[in-house]
Amino acid sequence: MSFSSLGLKPELVRALDAMGYTSPTPIQERAIPRVLEGRDLLAGAQTGTGKTAAFSLPVLQRLHDAAPQRGPRPPRALVLTPTRELALQVHDNIRSYAKHLRLSSTVIFGGAGMNPQLEALRRGVDVLVATPGRLIDHIERRSVDLSKIEVLVLDEADRMLDMGFLPAMKRILGVLPRQNRQTLLFSATFASEIKQLAQQFMRDPEEIQVTPQNTVVATVEHRGHPVDTSRKRDLLLHLMAANSRRQTLVFTRTKHGANRLAEFLEKAGMRAAAIHGNKSQSARVKALTEFKNGKCTVLVATDIAARGIDIDQLPVVVNFDLPTIAEDYVHRIGRTGRNGSSGEAISLVAPEEGPLLRDIQKLLRQDIQMTSIEGFEASSPLQMNGSLKAARRPGHGQAQRNARPAGSGQKKPAAPGGNRPPRQGQHSGRGGGQGRPNSGGGQRRQAI
Ligand code: AMP
Repeated sequence: MSFSSLGLKPELVRALDAMGYTSPTPIQERAIPRVLEGRDLLAGAQTGTGKTAAFSLPVLQRLHDAAPQRGPRPPRALVLTPTRELALQVHDNIRSYAKHLRLSSTVIFGGAGMNPQLEALRRGVDVLVATPGRLIDHIERRSVDLSKIEVLVLDEADRMLDMGFLPAMKRILGVLPRQNRQTLLFSATFASEIKQLAQQFMRDPEEIQVTPQNTVVATVEHRGHPVDTSRKRDLLLHLMAANSRRQTLVFTRTKHGANRLAEFLEKAGMRAAAIHGNKSQSARVKALTEFKNGKCTVLVATDIAARGIDIDQLPVVVNFDLPTIAEDYVHRIGRTGRNGSSGEAISLVAPEEGPLLRDIQKLLRQDIQMTSIEGFEASSPLQMNGSLKAARRPGHGQAQRNARPAGSGQKKPAAPGGNRPPRQGQHSGRGGGQGRPNSGGGQRRQAI
């Protein structure tokens, strides 16, 4: 299947060729013809599936085919995204795809200066990519005219709801034209609010699901290590030591946790950075760029900050804390094992996180292989039958705050390529009270 056989113009196909896209991904194959027909779309697809091109390409073609517009003009397509990072990435992609078309675009998001955004809107654009909060600011200032919007894209709609943007989204939808507007909604999951939103604001949408909901690709190997919270940092360092150059994305539950962990790793000699909502926009972009170009090897992120981060093919993702919402595990892991290559998902699981592990396994419909690492065994069994509420309590990070300083957890900190392979025992994390390591087992070094 080729892009031109989907009905895309040579100008777009040429841009895709230059970017090395040889054939469409499944979501592109299914979405592009429908969007070109003018249908509304309700698409279940997560980051990494090629969803950005799936909506951008036909939208650009549609705008290009309409009468060419010149001079100051209001936007005709609006893409709403939950985060600034995603807005920037979507906009970058749109610019690359539109390289040979006479269409202009701009991106607006909070935390950046107002003046360049006002200026760009004044000059006139065809495509506007925005985060909901800053777009509302512009609506209130009357610096944006949304009365000519023909296509609306809600990208990562589930995350926009998670972030509390429902009122903002409804407000924006309220000022958009209803007649003849095409609406494309992309979401990794379909909670009832998303369905409601679709019913309220879409016209007979075509439903597309590219991966069965809440599944992860088969090429990802999932494994976990039972460990006390206070020992997680040392275990992470130990696991990373054998492969200190491997690009690793580490997830923590809190912003403070991300900062503390990045600092700890830096002190231990790793090139690490943290990315979360409290960091300035420029610090986030810098961390992401350094991680992408390999200047920094470990990126510690919270779920919200990492959402939509466009990093191609990571070999490993580490859950330093298990996510409190099982679906977030799927989002986190979506960054590894892409395009058929293999990937690893490693979870450090404290005994009290058993109920979270139980939920994730239920969602994945598979067990995560649990393996104790010698010297880091958990002091109590995984509490698989405990309460989810208790496991989600942020106080779970308390022990982490009291954790010993770098290296103090091990008599001999593991050096890269170190010579003492830890002994592991394997057991399944499913079922009640099985968390106790089985000290027998192989001598294979578990490194990340
Ligand atoms: P997305 O799911 O939109 O975040 O895209 C994930 C990554 O896949 C991005 O780096 C895209 O540039 C890339 N990509 C999207 N479509 C294709 C394609 N047809 N062939 C190769 N790479 C693609």
